[in-house]
Amino acid sequence: MTGAAVTDEMTGQAFEVRARTVVNATGIWAERVAELAGGPAAWHLRPSKGVHLVFAPGTVRTTAAVVAPSAARDGRYIFIVPWEDTGSTPARPTPRTRATWTPRRSATPTGTTILAAVAGLFTGVSDRDVVASWAGLRPLLSQG
Ligand SMILES: Cc1cc2nc3c(=O)[nH]c(=O)nc-3n(C[C@H](O)[C@H](O)[C@H](O)COP(=O)(O)OP(=O)(O)OC[C@H]3O[C@@H](n4cnc5c(N)ncnc54)[C@H](O)[C@@H]3O)c2cc1C
Repeated sequence: MTGAAVTDEMTGQAFEVRARTVVNATGIWAERVAELAGGPAAWHLRPSKGVHLVFAPGTVRTTAAVVAPSAARDGRYIFIVPWEDTGSTPARPTPRTRATWTPRRSATPTGTTILAAVAGLFTGVSDRDVVASWAGLRPLLSQG
């Protein structure tokens, strides 16, 4: 069959969809899904952990984006990006930070590592200033 066998998760109804082309857009699961369809096992995708912290307005004061090494100087970097800055009040940006790195075992929670790097750059910033955080895996390409 060219198409897909799908199940409506709401009703449980299973049916087939026929198509000339099927696009596999399943993110970090794309290669696993391709294998389900009988495709060759390929491991070009390397899930990479991404974490965002959002800081309260006025706590991380920058009007420019900043790239900085992690506090541990272990080859990882954080990005500090002003977010939803009104422009008219540059002293009160709401920066968010994003860390990108390859997954590795660590005794230190990722958010703590980011926070240490931000606090090293912006005096007085602490975990009390974090108003939101989220994390997930991104589909980066392996270098192999
Ligand atoms: C914390 C974090 C921060 C990020 N920040 C940025 C950023 O600032 N800028 C940027 O450009 N990118 C960012 N990214 C990366 C970006 O989110 C991803 O690159 C992008 O979402 C990938 O899109 P996609 O459509 O390929 O996959 P996804 O968005 O992952 O979508 C895949 C979909 O396939 C579905 N699916 C999987 N398997 C199956 C299956 N068997 N059957 C049916 N459905 C299935 C999933 O449920 C999902 O809905 C970030 C990622 C994370 C985790």
